[in-house]
Amino acid sequence: MSGRFDGKVALVTGAGSGIGAACAARLAAEGACVGVLDLRTAGARATAAAIRARGGTAMALTCDVSDDKQVEEAVATLVTSFGRVDVLHSNAAVLDHGVYGRDRELETLDVAVWDRTMEVNLRGAMLMVKHTVPVMPDGGAMVLTSSVSALVGDTVHAAYGASKAALLGFTRYVATMYGTRGIRCNAVAPALVLTPAAERALTPDQLAVKQAERLLPWACSVDDVASLVAFLCSDEARCLTGQTLVIDSGTLAHRPQHAVE
Ligand code: ADP
Repeated sequence: MSGRFDGKVALVTGAGSGIGAACAARLAAEGACVGVLDLRTAGARATAAAIRARGGTAMALTCDVSDDKQVEEAVATLVTSFGRVDVLHSNAAVLDHGVYGRDRELETLDVAVWDRTMEVNLRGAMLMVKHTVPVMPDGGAMVLTSSVSALVGDTVHAAYGASKAALLGFTRYVATMYGTRGIRCNAVAPALVLTPAAERALTPDQLAVKQAERLLPWACSVDDVASLVAFLCSDEARCLTGQTLVIDSGTLAHRPQHAVE
């Protein structure tokens, strides 16, 4: 295998499933040694095993990204084996504390749901950056996973949307603080990625509404997001920093037709 990340060390959080798993696999396929970090040991191990089965190099790391000590230890473990971290993809997140719709009404919102969402989605990204920056060589790259929920309002998951919006500000701060070292930091903002689990969670009517919102006839897959993340982490994006790249098949680029007079 050879590619854009030959000889590089990458760390991907939330890599036990979904977008994170696809990004870890993509970075490994293009030559990176990958730290596959997730709260769920089984998920991290499965992603790492799949990478190794294809001839890549991966280390599974069990860690809660919201815990300062655990993040410090996970980064240290990776660095002990691989020496440094050239690429960070901070992607671990929770949506409504795992229960869809639990923060639908603000009047009855359980503050524990709000706090846990902020802890994982926002503090988790900050802790990953905090502990990775000291072991990242100049010229390294970071990508934070945000969401279209950061850019437009919705009647559900206010905590999630607020946490993902805060990440966009944090992205610009990280880009500003470490730009002189050639360290870049960008955010990706995907729309709902159609995984089998997402398709099962939505009704046919909800899926039809989602499709009607897209300009393109197809939804984004986890591999589409991985392509964008790999580009942003590569030298091809050497002049991009502090940016948010929306990947949504054209959902936010227009007003829905029923809204046009
Ligand atoms: P998506 O479809 O957007 O990729 P997933 O729920 O499949 O969303 O992925 C989020 C990943 O983040 C999961 O693998 C989950 O276990 C992981 N995760 C959630 N909370 C934490 C946490 N506190 N620390 C580390 N990983 C976490």
